[in-house]
Amino acid sequence: MEMKRIFFLLLITFSFLSNAQAVSEPKNNPAEWSKPYEPFKIAGNLYYVGTYDLASYLIVTDKGNILINTGLADSLPMIKNNIKQLGFNYKDIKILTLTQAHFDHMGAMADFKKETGAKLYVDEKDAEELKSGGKSDYELGKYGVTFKPVQPDFLLKNNDKIKLGNTTLTLLHHPGHTKGSCSFLFETKDKDQTYKILIANLPSIIIDRKFSDITSYQSIQKDYAETFEAMKKIDFDLWVASHASQFDLHKKRKTGDPYNPKLFMDKENYFKRLKDLENNYLKKIKEDSTKK
Ligand SMILES: [Zn+2]
Repeated sequence: MEMKRIFFLLLITFSFLSNAQAVSEPKNNPAEWSKPYEPFKIAGNLYYVGTYDLASYLIVTDKGNILINTGLADSLPMIKNNIKQLGFNYKDIKILTLTQAHFDHMGAMADFKKETGAKLYVDEKDAEELKSGGKSDYELGKYGVTFKPVQPDFLLKNNDKIKLGNTTLTLLHHPGHTKGSCSFLFETKDKDQTYKILIANLPSIIIDRKFSDITSYQSIQKDYAETFEAMKKIDFDLWVASHASQFDLHKKRKTGDPYNPKLFMDKENYFKRLKDLENNYLKKIKEDSTKK
């Protein structure tokens, strides 16, 4: 090979290597994140298929299935196994989506997409974080690339719909925790009744720095405020969240318990959680104002 050509090949090799950064998922996570949990039917066509604490939701439709959130990288075999245990095939997943672009909900997303060929629908404000493997995140970006980067297929805004077969999810833009954090609202029914389900991404705060010091996310304080207002107004019958601990899954349900959608019909707990988070937010604003 002539020198020029060799030089050119070296050049592409090096630029490829410098772009392809290794994924380093943060370690020392709570043990509950990687602990298996039995999959179960929540209500109608909604199933819990996540780990003990990292919630993943499978929505089964007559035209294939939707998977929301994928836990850590090592959750992949657990979620696949949970789907199988329920009698479904993970290859029937046609749509993938998420509640927030953090590694504990995105770890296995790239692999699920590759293995199923499903389309990834995301809140448009989290698209950069997904493409950078979390490196562009205003806070967790300090850990570098924390999950395998993944390319979104469809970018959604507040109130946009995700439709598959007999199910339509409405995306609710609830930014703050990440720029594109979101919740989902949809209707499902079983033989007894119809339920309006909220899959909530609760707006917890993950920074010690002042809001005004977050230069890569200047609207963060305002976004939280808008999210609290929006989340107070949601009308639903039954709710779950991004983490099992956030909706007290293990207090409500014990291993082997039979199907019972009523376990998740505790709206008062949702509003109480939200109020507590809002109080944290208001306290932080006060503290920020006294800091230099
Ligand atoms: Zn998070």
